[in-house]
Amino acid sequence: MKKKIYVLLFAALVSAPLAQAQTKKKTKAKVKTEAVIQEPEMERQVVNYTVESGESTAEIFARTITAADLSKYLHVLASDEFEGRETGQKGQKLAAAYISNFFRENGLIGPVASNPGNTYYQKFNLEQATWKAAALKVGKKQFVYQKDFFLFGDAPEQPTQQLDLVFAGYGIDDKNYSDYRNLNVKGKTVIVLAGEPMDKAGNYLISKSKEASPWGADSRAKTRAATQKGAKNVLVIESSEANLQKSMEGLKHWLDSPMIAFPGKDRRNPTIFVSPEVGAALLNTSAKKLQAYQNKISESGKPVPSEFKLATGVELQTEKVRSPLPTENVLGFIEGTDKKDEVIVLTAHYDHIGMDPTKTGDQIFNGADDDGSGTSAIMEMAQAFMEAKKAGAGPRRSILFMAVTGEEKGLLGSEYYTSNPVFPLANTVANLNIDMIGRTDEKYAGNKNYIYVIGSDKLSSELHDINEIANHQYTKLELDYTYNDEKDPNKFYYRSDHYNFAKNNIPVIFYFNGVHEDYHKETDEVDKIMFDKMETITRLVFHTAWELANRDERIKMDSNKK
Ligand SMILES: [Zn+2]
Repeated sequence: MKKKIYVLLFAALVSAPLAQAQTKKKTKAKVKTEAVIQEPEMERQVVNYTVESGESTAEIFARTITAADLSKYLHVLASDEFEGRETGQKGQKLAAAYISNFFRENGLIGPVASNPGNTYYQKFNLEQATWKAAALKVGKKQFVYQKDFFLFGDAPEQPTQQLDLVFAGYGIDDKNYSDYRNLNVKGKTVIVLAGEPMDKAGNYLISKSKEASPWGADSRAKTRAATQKGAKNVLVIESSEANLQKSMEGLKHWLDSPMIAFPGKDRRNPTIFVSPEVGAALLNTSAKKLQAYQNKISESGKPVPSEFKLATGVELQTEKVRSPLPTENVLGFIEGTDKKDEVIVLTAHYDHIGMDPTKTGDQIFNGADDDGSGTSAIMEMAQAFMEAKKAGAGPRRSILFMAVTGEEKGLLGSEYYTSNPVFPLANTVANLNIDMIGRTDEKYAGNKNYIYVIGSDKLSSELHDINEIANHQYTKLELDYTYNDEKDPNKFYYRSDHYNFAKNNIPVIFYFNGVHEDYHKETDEVDKIMFDKMETITRLVFHTAWELANRDERIKMDSNKK
């Protein structure tokens, strides 16, 4: 057991354990790394920190990161008062005020000179658009929105469009099964059948098993294939009336919620989901003949040319009400010492998905894990680095702590920041992003000692090594790289704010605990958070950031992995 002693702070300024670990690594992997030797810029002074013997400077301040502090912040961020922190809404504004006050109280600088009213806020306008009306006319027949069909996506520029239709069977474009052979879909609305055809034994034709391939499981594979071939959009005929109703019920809240995007962005044509009855009208056939066509495919095991004569005079009417939605990223800045022009950016999104007033019972999606946990971690690290700075051990490079808005609406806050950076992207050394670190997923049920690490080796092997060494030296978590695999179907690398930095050639690490049964549900509550686990992971991010900020050489970009 280590003994607790009091020493002068500067006695511990050479971070010996990290230096040791790096020397070891150096001989083993021939990675160029430097020991961190701090040049104190302030007068020699006695600081009342409890220092364990042999402790590095980084460790002294890592220990200020505690489960108790994290719990304090998260109990505020994930409280019902903050109403699920929906982008542009009252709860998000309350959270922004809370985070910026915290930055101010802890002595961080608000770096947004363009917003003199509050230099902690990077303000910008999004736009919200809600469906006002939609109708689908086939000849004289008029079909009703959210009864016979629904729309997924944005409303096109013109409120009334004539649809130029083409039928593409199941809309599958696979190596051994393609509905697109000799089919020109350029500029057209492609009609496809939902799902994946089965053979007579009940196996899916593409997956050749009882489980559907992505073609059958997710309509996005079909929209992607069609758009890649130049189609205007896709119309999906649901396999049954009941399935259409089930989809609409599940999506009700989403369909009625405004869509949020940057104003004036290209408006994508919506994907149209229709009942079999509407489908039959569009194909000028009957439900029975449509079924017979599907049976033929099952029997032959391959695409079958159809004899449907498609309806003409098909008109889609859409209208959305649009209004501006102001929101803000919250930025706190610690200026570095001798390398202050280079910046490390630590991010977590503080927005979540708000409330659902149509729900009975709990209507508030508190987003404790997603991503109140990451936001609390950012705040706690900001405080730890400020403590270090106040004690004369501030970072050599500058550190920007950014609580990001609009993540749940499509990584919008980080997109805005990287398009309008407060510090030049060329000087941005790395981005460490935290999104969900307070829970465990199914794979690690009962084991808190892990974290998924995503993206660390994609642009810089040094970044990867630094994180590995910091973990080896200080936190000893199992670093799980499952989701770092480009072939992993979850594609988490593209699904949080770090991706907007990576896109701009900035090395990133994404820290993530995986999804769980409360993900994006009203049950993502603060009382389920494991704060001791959060503490360890936050310390890992802190140590990695510390090394990035204090090493002699900026990390090198030496890889370009997918
Ligand atoms: Zn998230």
